This record gives sequence, structure tokens and C-alpha cells, in this order.
Amino acid sequence: MSKGPQRIRGTQDIWGEEADRFQAVVAAFERVRRLYAFSRIEIPVFEATEVFARSIGETTDIVSKEMYSFPDRGGDSLTLRPEFTAGICRAYLSEGWQQHAPLKLATHGPVFRYERPQKGRFRQFHQLDAEIIGSDAPAADVELLVLADQLLHELGIQDGVTLNLNTLGDAATREAWRAALVEHFEAHRADLSEDSLNRLEKNPLRILDSKDPRDRPAADSAPVIDAFLTAEAADFFAAVTAGLDAAGVAWTRNGSLVRGLDYYRHTAFEFITDRLGAQGTVLAGGRYDGLIESLGGPPTPAVGWAAGIERLAMMIAAPEPARPQAALVPLGEAAEAAATGLAAGLRRAGIACDMAFKGNMKRRLAKADAAGVRFAIILGDDELAAGEAAVKDLRSGEQFRVALADLAGALVAR
Ligand code: ATP
Ligand code: MG
Repeated sequence: MSKGPQRIRGTQDIWGEEADRFQAVVAAFERVRRLYAFSRIEIPVFEATEVFARSIGETTDIVSKEMYSFPDRGGDSLTLRPEFTAGICRAYLSEGWQQHAPLKLATHGPVFRYERPQKGRFRQFHQLDAEIIGSDAPAADVELLVLADQLLHELGIQDGVTLNLNTLGDAATREAWRAALVEHFEAHRADLSEDSLNRLEKNPLRILDSKDPRDRPAADSAPVIDAFLTAEAADFFAAVTAGLDAAGVAWTRNGSLVRGLDYYRHTAFEFITDRLGAQGTVLAGGRYDGLIESLGGPPTPAVGWAAGIERLAMMIAAPEPARPQAALVPLGEAAEAAATGLAAGLRRAGIACDMAFKGNMKRRLAKADAAGVRFAIILGDDELAAGEAAVKDLRSGEQFRVALADLAGALVAR
């Protein structure tokens, strides 16, 4: 037998326990973002390519080699979103939402990157995303980090996940630090990998988080940012760490955390675990005060993070599968016709109910049992003639008859 078309490499068909895990992560995020008064936003899955090229930066891995870009039928270059931030900022500008600033926004959904698929790394994966646009207050960075921390706690995965925190300073800090890094790495050219020689031209900060062992000595001996922080940048970072301490969120300073994207300023962070092998970053983000300007907007401070839903879902305990409360087992044509109306009535009364469309009574009862329902509702000719149903409480083993008109009420009462 032909197996038919296969799914595209790096994509996923998610079902069963995996789908339950996925939903549990999304549900926790939805709960927590409400607690922090973040409003929901939905944006397109594709944008004009320049939205990502201009904001994320031409020299990043994402823009230089991971984007799904294609000409549409009108010849415009479009790109499937590789992340949410750029599209949200584009929406903020094109919809004129400046008047609502600061805006606290949350969303989740699929994102697309052309990467080598492996455990925890897909070409279509899913992110949770939270952003605060239009606030330059360190309290905004803190609120996003405390939200992230609470999410990890509610998912029960806070143990073994560490908040790595760094500052990239303001524009003046970053320029001075960058110049010092270039000078340092120029002096160590002979020791660097080819990739890092390339980075030296385009994005020297990235050498700091190189995983190539050849780069480590030069990276580890590189000048640290602290010596270059302006007073303002130092104050900002101190306010963020003080806020985290006040909220009881544990963090650790990681001076080589620079993040892949060009647009970061001040706060940069990653929640990292040792439980997922090489794909250890579960949630990452920072402040991106330069991004909206690079899209042609006015200077607009903003901060945000994204988390991989699959990576979080792999870490949580298997959730209890959702079970309907009742299963209807109609026997014979007349009962089947009546059961359709009964099932609709139960569901309208808020009782989750499943009904086997076909099959013999034993098989249907076994299926109801296996599905873990509480009540099996058996409807045969006798019951129908009496205007009743035979109900079996699968928890207690009790069996009783109920008038059809009282069915929903009788189930709720038990
Ligand atoms: P990595 O270093 O793992 O490539 P990244 O820096 O590219 O991560 P971000 O752009 O910060 O990742 O994306 C935020 C989060 O999305 C990551 O922390 C991770 O949990 C998840 N993520 C990123 N790329 C993938 C992918 N290809 N498949 C699954 N999850 C991913
Ligand atoms: Mg990546």
C-alpha cells in the first residue's frame, strides 16, 4: 500500500500525549499572561521580507541562512515569520498603536526557520511570545522576567532551569565595547575559527558565544562589557537586578551572553536547562530599543522574549488526558436517533459526552471504559419505550435508570 505524501522534513504532526503537553504549555501561558495583564495579539504568518531583514539584521544566522523567503505571484518577496518580534513591531507602526503605549502583548503560534532538524530543533516550530512596547523603564524588563519565571514554576519545570542575565549596555557602551572586542580579536586572529574570522568582520560580539573550542581561549580572555558601561547603562542594569531580587527571582550573570539578534540593548537573557542536551535554551529575549527605528518608526523602547513550546512541552510531566464525563451507547436504530438528541442536550448542559457511532454493545462499553468516562449511558429499546436510560457509574459500579428528561440533572447531581 502506498503511504501517500510524507510530511516536510523538520515539520511535526502532533497528536495524543504530545498534543496534550503542547496544549498544557499554551494554557499555562494564557493563564499567566492574564495575571500580568498582557493582551492577546494575532499577526500574519508572513510579512514582506524586508520586515525581518531590516529589524533582525542581515548578519544574523536567521536572516543570512534560516529564512523561508519566496516571491509571491505578484513578484513581491515574502518571508514566513522566523520569530514574532519583528512582525509585532511592524503591526505597532502600521496600525498606529503608539497612542496605546506602553503596550503589553502576548501571542503564540508557528514560526519557521530553515535549520538542520534534530531533537528540540524543527523547521516549523512554535513559540510563546511576550513583549512590552513603548516603555524604557527597567521595571518592564523585570515584569517580563518575573512572568517568565512564574510560567516555568506553573509548568513545574523551574528546577534545573537557570536565568542567565547580561547587559549589552546602551548604544555608546556597545560601540566602545565592540571596538575593544575587535581590537582584541584582531590580535588573536591566528587562533580563531573560520566562522569567527567571518564574525569579526560582521558581528564580532557573536565570537563570545562561539561553541567552537578553537575560539574559546580568545573569547574567554576578551574584554568584558562592565569596563565600558556608561553610568546610565550601569544604573539600568542595577535596577533590573534589584527588581528581580525584590520579586524573588533567581538569576546568574553571564557576561558572554550576547544573543544572536543585532537589535538588543541593555538587558539580554536566556533561561537555560541542562535537561535537553544541546538545545538547552528554553526561553530567551531582551531589550530591543533600536528595532522600531530600524523599521522606519520613531525611537521606541521595547523589551520581550520568546520561548520554544516544544522544548517546554518536552520537560513537563505528562498531563492528565481530558476525558469526557459520559459516553452514550445506543442499541438499535431508534435508540441511535434518540441518542443524537440526548447527546446534544447533555453537551448544551455543559456535560462533555462522547458517542460511538457504530459497533456492538460490548465493544462500545469497553471503549467507554478505556476512555475513562464516568458514566456509560445505555439506550436500548426497553429503556426507550419507558422514556428512560440505563446509566452505569463506572467509578462506583452502580447501575440505575433515569428519565430521559432528567438525564443531565441526574448526572450533575452525582
Ligand atoms: P538556538 O540557539 O537554540 O538556535 P535561538 O537563539 O535561535 O536558539 P531564539 O531566536 O531566541 O532562539 O528563539 C527563542 C526560543 O525558541 C529558543 O530559546 C528556543 O526555545 C526556541 N527555538 C529556536 N529555534 C528553534 C527550533 N529550530 N526548533 C525548536 N525551537 C526553537
Ligand atoms: Mg537559532
